[in-house]
Amino acid sequence: MSVVIEREPAEAKGGAVAGERAVRTVTLIPGDGIGPEVTAAARRVLEATGVRLDWEVREAGASVFRQGLSSGVPEETIESIRKTRLVLKGPLETPVGFGEKSANVTLRKLFETYANVRPVREMPGVPTPYAGRGIDLIIVRENVEDLYAGIEHMQTPGVAQCLKLMSRKGCEKIVRIAFELAVAEGRTSIHCATKANIMKLTEGLLKRTFEEIAPEYPQIRAEHIIVDNAAHQLVRFPEAFEILVMSNMNGDILSDLTSGLVGGLGFAPSANLGSEVAIFEAVHGSAPKYAGKDVANPTAVLLSAVLMLRHLGEIEAAARVENALFVTLEKGIHTRDVSKSDAVGTQKFADAVIANFGWISEHWHARDYRPLRMPVSAAHGAIVPAVPRKTAGVDVFVETDLAPNALGASLEDLALETQFALKMVSNRGTKVYPMGSAMTDCVDHFRCRFFPRQPGAEVLDGAILDLLSRITRRYRWMHVEKLEEIGGKPGWTKAQGED
Ligand code: NAP
Repeated sequence: MSVVIEREPAEAKGGAVAGERAVRTVTLIPGDGIGPEVTAAARRVLEATGVRLDWEVREAGASVFRQGLSSGVPEETIESIRKTRLVLKGPLETPVGFGEKSANVTLRKLFETYANVRPVREMPGVPTPYAGRGIDLIIVRENVEDLYAGIEHMQTPGVAQCLKLMSRKGCEKIVRIAFELAVAEGRTSIHCATKANIMKLTEGLLKRTFEEIAPEYPQIRAEHIIVDNAAHQLVRFPEAFEILVMSNMNGDILSDLTSGLVGGLGFAPSANLGSEVAIFEAVHGSAPKYAGKDVANPTAVLLSAVLMLRHLGEIEAAARVENALFVTLEKGIHTRDVSKSDAVGTQKFADAVIANFGWISEHWHARDYRPLRMPVSAAHGAIVPAVPRKTAGVDVFVETDLAPNALGASLEDLALETQFALKMVSNRGTKVYPMGSAMTDCVDHFRCRFFPRQPGAEVLDGAILDLLSRITRRYRWMHVEKLEEIGGKPGWTKAQGED
């Protein structure tokens, strides 16, 4: 197994020496919309702690897109992060439904920050329907795989596809970091929330990995929960959860939900953690309507800065900022998202936090933390031991306006002189031939599943190419999936209605 736990605590890498801490250089990306205001507030608070930080201010996001750089992340920014390995970042705008890819996701993926850790804690003095229930949980979201790999293709002019890629290695790293976080924070339970009832191979991989690793942490209660039920339970009984580990998309959505439980996106911090680089940022986006108005709540980015201090081993400074923040909120000093009548602006709020340094709330305490041990994985390759493999069949995806019966008969005819027989045809995952449901509202994108005529025979590439050369005489095909038997088990799922 090539994912192990790093023995050296993360902060030891900072080069800190006992007594006097080294100066740490941080890449600061102010970002778009409200980003420059909230990161400026956080920078001032961090500087007021006396921790020795040096800032390299770099660009990413909208301004970079406007300069014509389609990645949204210029080389100087990448170079700075390669050097500092530490980022405090404002939100970056992403065009919705068109245009360039998200510069946020690009940054997370370029530096393999595979874990997005999103603490959600009830804040003192912040009125919410849940106030007093003691919500204190962490969403651990896988950060570089799943649908966010962003591998999308138009299959036909009217059918789009996004590949949901999940790896055993990615699942193992995120599961291990979730358990290690539980250890570091003295938590007693973890839920793994998946959609494994529907996506048995992808989401199922996360569930199986979680169940395999859980026994290594017998002191932590490990439970699986279906993600839609997790959403339901989080709204009804959020205090029942301590840590939830999830795939990328599920974690993205549920962490916005959980931020809503404690006062909104203005209160939701995050850390993007990898083996080499850590990026700290608020969960929220650029909230463009508030840009330049000095009304945004800087708490989320301040709490992200607290996570950064802890990552640096500056435990005392982290607690000082957190306590000052608790006291500020408890005194009723609030930004516009909480208080409609006597709200303070972004910078005034930061001033109040600084003024409250040294104060500790009677009711709210910073948690005790032990250093987080990061999983480390081998640089290359799969981590699943070699098992017998065989190509057992093939799915060919074709575009046609034919009705299913006509398509099925035509494909059976085409396959006659090949090694294959047609097993079935499906449309968007539902079997439509032979004997589909008349109610299936077909689109022009069909999956045609072939197995060797001789049961159990191995399928060679030449046979697949021969089949394709015949299919292409009548149909436009857009992709092919080999049906792999792995360790004697089918590495594919059936269509709805397929026997
Ligand atoms: P958003 O910027 O997070 O804003 C949604 C709403 O959340 C705001 O309208 C506001 O609610 C509230 N809000 C967010 N941050 C706040 C703060 N600091 N203080 C007070 N209220 C705050 O989400 P969006 O409008 O969906 O996205 C805008 C842009 O940000 C998009 O381009 C998106 O792609 C990008 N984005 C970036 C990141 C990132 O960089 N990590 C994350 C998410 C989205 P009210 O309207 O109720 O006042």
